[in-house]
Amino acid sequence: MDIKKVIAKYPRIHLTPLPTPLEFAPQLTKMLGGPKIYVKRDDLTAIAFGGNKTRKLEFLMADAVKQNADTVITLGGVQSNWVRQCVAAARKLGMNSVAVLEGEMPQVYQGNVLLDRIFGAQLIYDSNITQELEDQEIQGICPITSKVAESYRQRGKHPYLMPLGGATPLGNLGYINAVDELMYQMDEQGIHADYLIAGTGTGGTQAGIECGLRLANASAKMLGISVSHHTQPKEVEIAALCNTTMEFLGIHEQPFTPNDISVNYDYVGEGYGAVTDAAIEAIHMAAELEGLILCHTYAGKAFAGMVDLIRRGVLTRDHTVVFIHTGGGVGNFAHPELF
Ligand SMILES: *Cc1c(COP(=O)(O)O)cnc(C)c1O
Repeated sequence: MDIKKVIAKYPRIHLTPLPTPLEFAPQLTKMLGGPKIYVKRDDLTAIAFGGNKTRKLEFLMADAVKQNADTVITLGGVQSNWVRQCVAAARKLGMNSVAVLEGEMPQVYQGNVLLDRIFGAQLIYDSNITQELEDQEIQGICPITSKVAESYRQRGKHPYLMPLGGATPLGNLGYINAVDELMYQMDEQGIHADYLIAGTGTGGTQAGIECGLRLANASAKMLGISVSHHTQPKEVEIAALCNTTMEFLGIHEQPFTPNDISVNYDYVGEGYGAVTDAAIEAIHMAAELEGLILCHTYAGKAFAGMVDLIRRGVLTRDHTVVFIHTGGGVGNFAHPELF
């Protein structure tokens, strides 16, 4: 199916030059002695130091603009890459932003939250977001964000609620588009990828990639490396998200089942944001061998997963792997003690 045609009907605001580079990683490939490793540089999108959320925001922000929004309200962790890109994109489009951040007000502003502050986002701290999302989530929105939106409406504003991580069918178009882009680049460079690897948080990126691979009829398989533990298996959630995304696109194919989705939980460590030795090793390896900056929360864990799968012989010399670098390097500035 022609992906460009499928997504052309949805409004989109171009927030970054695309395509992002697809680069061979020669030192890494040589050192690990396994598959040919390529890196899709989605850390290089042009919204406040980049990352995977920019692609989702191209579609979500277009919807906000279409609805005449003047204020974007969203939520995430204190060191959320999503919140950083969201509040920056809002400014680029002339809007204000509010972010409900899980946790306490930091004593020193560092990393992502420092940038949120520089962008002049109104920051609200709430320790219960995860619980609220588990109890009464409605598509990535929790009661506190809805309450904030209501207070803005009462003041005559036009708020737009951005769901956690942008993981909605509309946001997922960003990664369907990324697959199309990647297919062209691989064609051009004569690459046949067996596996795409990326960190999986909300699962929106993986869902978009899974839908994109199916629409492109591609043989490459997506391996999501989970960055957090979940009560419900992520495969179930991602398969459901893939199906709602396909429905949203008006494409009626055989539904995705959890068996179609591959998520690996072996590299989470104690949980979201928890430091693992493997992630720190991965950060050093990517930096020292290829000049890439990863973080311990997302790309470092995903990369650690890739390295381990190579060392254990799951990924071999016969394979070609594309590591989707989802960004997140800004988070390192909040954790100098790790290095
Ligand atoms: C959000 C994020 C991810 C995960 O993307 P999801 O779509 O939430 O699964 C991976 N890496 C980085 C750096 C991120 O900020």
